Amino acid sequence: MSFPVTPTLDTIVALCKRRGFVFPAAEIYGGINGVYDFGHLGTLMKNNIRTTWLKSLTNPRGEIVQIEGSLLAPEAVWKASGHVEGFHDPMVDCKACKKRFRADELDLNKGCPSCGNNDWTEIRQFNMMFKTQVGANQDSGSIAYLRPETAQAIYINFKNVMTTSRSKIPFGIAQIGKSFRNEITPKQFLFRMREFEQMEMQWFCKAETAPQELQNWTAQRLAFYKSIGLTMDKIRTRDHAADELAHYSTNCTDVEYQFPFGWKELEGIAHRGCYDLTQHSTHSGKDLGVFDEATKESYVPNVVECSIGVDRLFLTLLFDAYYEDVVEGETRVVLKLDKKIAPIKAAFLPLIKKLEEPAQKLYQSFLERGISVQYDASGSIGKRYRRQDEIGTPFCITYDFESEQDHCVTVRHRDTTKQERIAIDKLAEYLAL
Ligand code: ATP
Repeated sequence: MSFPVTPTLDTIVALCKRRGFVFPAAEIYGGINGVYDFGHLGTLMKNNIRTTWLKSLTNPRGEIVQIEGSLLAPEAVWKASGHVEGFHDPMVDCKACKKRFRADELDLNKGCPSCGNNDWTEIRQFNMMFKTQVGANQDSGSIAYLRPETAQAIYINFKNVMTTSRSKIPFGIAQIGKSFRNEITPKQFLFRMREFEQMEMQWFCKAETAPQELQNWTAQRLAFYKSIGLTMDKIRTRDHAADELAHYSTNCTDVEYQFPFGWKELEGIAHRGCYDLTQHSTHSGKDLGVFDEATKESYVPNVVECSIGVDRLFLTLLFDAYYEDVVEGETRVVLKLDKKIAPIKAAFLPLIKKLEEPAQKLYQSFLERGISVQYDASGSIGKRYRRQDEIGTPFCITYDFESEQDHCVTVRHRDTTKQERIAIDKLAEYLAL
């Protein structure tokens, strides 16, 4: 019997470290708060998340093209977008223990969560962008910022992309890349980081279709979560109240997940009106309007945005997939990751050392097809199964003595631990990796 346990954050952090999914960045120098490095398995899993997300954007309503924008952009971009003026979080310091907090996340009357005192500084606004200077000249023209969201790179490239890809409204521009926010209190591991990765899709459409598109995209995003195996009972949507909306937003629906630390945003789906393109038109002096052949008039398209953090989804998937059960009197940890997301798709295990050669050959044949598979010949077969369960490998393939005669291998299924004999020449088709 396997049963989902709600793992603590510490359990997930320890698993990530132990098995090489995620490490604290610059760990040998004491680390850097809110920044992480991804190991081999983490990198493979992130790649799978990116690929699956891109595929999930396909729809009959219009095409999706991609860009990879720069991480640095001049101050002018962030003035136009409103980030220089408005990308703040309120912060407050405890005068007694000097710890800093986000004021909107605290009940100040209850006292400091760290030392219990109730003696606070004034609440101050803290801009979360990382500011830097480009080149040797220290004038205002040399100020740049690391991007706090990927969206702006899409808006400022809108005309370039639309013209060169010969796209017609409606269409979408998707981008996967790093964003940087100097979060006051990075916490909960990959949930709130200072350097993180976003997958964003900006859908350009006419104003009159935007409310319907917001609904279409919300449904399409929920279908995505179902397709990657998330427990749908732990997913809900929440519409923003008017006073919660960001300065650019007309309407916004958050997709939330029930983390062990509460219901939290996983993805933001927003109708941003024509705010961003209009702002960049005004500030740059370049017309970002589109000519409508039907009305013979130019207009600024509306945008519906779907924005999700790769790392936050990564963490969600780990929480959601974590199970423990007892096999042969021993507790095993098993990550029931969807086959599309699992970092290693199959592991090849010779029953004993003597059978290494044919098992290796089989393993190589999968490797050559670009499938991420592992080979493991060390330890008892039970131990090897356990190692793969813990990293979410859906299939273990054992080559044994009989394989020499019947040209079959044993396929062991991660979730059920059931085993089946499958002909070697049918294996690829059977696993459908
Ligand atoms: P939150 O309310 O959690 O701070 P947000 O509303 O500021 O999030 P958005 O600006 O809408 O977030 O960013 C879109 C997505 O990017 C979020 O839904 C989340 O998945 C991800 N994200 C945002 N900030 C972070 C962060 N500091 N670390 C990891 N992922 C993040």
